[in-house]
Amino acid sequence: MSADRIVPTWLVRGARPLGGDPTDLLLQDGVVAEVGAGLTAAGAEVIDADGLVALPGLVDLHTHLREPGREDAETVESGTLAAALGGFTAVHAMANTDPVADTAGVVEQVWRLGREAGHCDVRPVGAVTVGLAGGRLAELGAMADSAARVRVFSDDGHCVSDAVLMRRALEYVKAFDGVVAQHAQEPRLTEDAQMNEGELAGRLGLSGWPGVAEEAVVARDVLLAAHVGSRLHVCHVSTGGSVEILRLAKTRGLPVTAEVTPHHLFLTEDRAATYDPVYKVNPPLRSAADVRALREGLADGTIDAVATDHAPHPAEDKECEWAAAAFGMLGLETALSVVQHTMVDTGLLDWAGVADRMSVRPARIGRVADAGERHGRPLAAGEPANLVLLDPAARRTVDPADLASLSRNTPYAGTTLPGQVVATFLRGRPTVLKGAPA
Ligand SMILES: [Zn+2]
Repeated sequence: MSADRIVPTWLVRGARPLGGDPTDLLLQDGVVAEVGAGLTAAGAEVIDADGLVALPGLVDLHTHLREPGREDAETVESGTLAAALGGFTAVHAMANTDPVADTAGVVEQVWRLGREAGHCDVRPVGAVTVGLAGGRLAELGAMADSAARVRVFSDDGHCVSDAVLMRRALEYVKAFDGVVAQHAQEPRLTEDAQMNEGELAGRLGLSGWPGVAEEAVVARDVLLAAHVGSRLHVCHVSTGGSVEILRLAKTRGLPVTAEVTPHHLFLTEDRAATYDPVYKVNPPLRSAADVRALREGLADGTIDAVATDHAPHPAEDKECEWAAAAFGMLGLETALSVVQHTMVDTGLLDWAGVADRMSVRPARIGRVADAGERHGRPLAAGEPANLVLLDPAARRTVDPADLASLSRNTPYAGTTLPGQVVATFLRGRPTVLKGAPA
């Protein structure tokens, strides 16, 4: 082992694991060596974590890193640095790159770029269909067997709308304990759709995107997953109707999981009245009633995880007329603050709940909890030292110019949000210290 690979010992003093009582954590040789009051370690680097909450490193099931192909919008380097600054120690990189991540070669390239960057673990998502074209299945087994060990498969950006293909994908991934992550959007019901269907869309003259376009696919896929006995994950749930279907699926004990984005927990369709395309996103921002249902669904565990759907776009694709603009918004660097604002400060989730929805459950869904990287683990002796320290009392006003992402399309510019990530550790090595890249 070369000298620059030696990780120093860190003593974190007085942090509150999962928001509980203050204690010390000793991080040594990549693992949590000891947890307890009054720890000492000769020669250790010391962090005064008085008032800071310690959570297991966050895991994102839904990140667009844009490399290969759109390095003007984001790279694996810039996107994973943004992730670390947001408290993440692992991200799942979506397959809609150019070329599409539909072969072992492309997923291994993304995985290798993640290792070289070193800011967090990158687990590539494999495309379900060749070229995301919805025509025939991609080489799912080859991607699963590759060095990238793909377990999550998604045509995200596109819906696997063909029921026969979806059924075959669900059957196929069972062989390697994979999961199909569906972008639920019935294409015929959303042709030219621009924003949530309803009275406001009519008034603004923007064509409507009905909630049923999502709910119809969620319902169909829940039934298919039950029929096949395979794991289904529903991406970016956006309506109260979808939450109801998922609740029924969970009541029946079906192998169905789901995620919600921070922006769908926070923002409503009213933002479209600005005609500012920074608020244009797929699925669209919905009604206040939908936002309430999503928060309740996340609080009661019907929705398993928060996933960012971090979607960087260069200025020319967002600073234009609404109808011409690209869908999507940044999310990695503000996710934890938005979850604190919408879920913790409202009393819907405690910090243990945040750890569960942003680390433990997404790690299990993506199969990064047990094998290899071991994310979403307890903050206990012997576990990998993947953790984030955050200051829940801090307040910050989001300035797009401060973000590590190469893109600037955050919907929170000028918004004051609670909470600040102070430090992130990946296997005992700081990736972020004092809120800045380490
Ligand atoms: Zn999507």
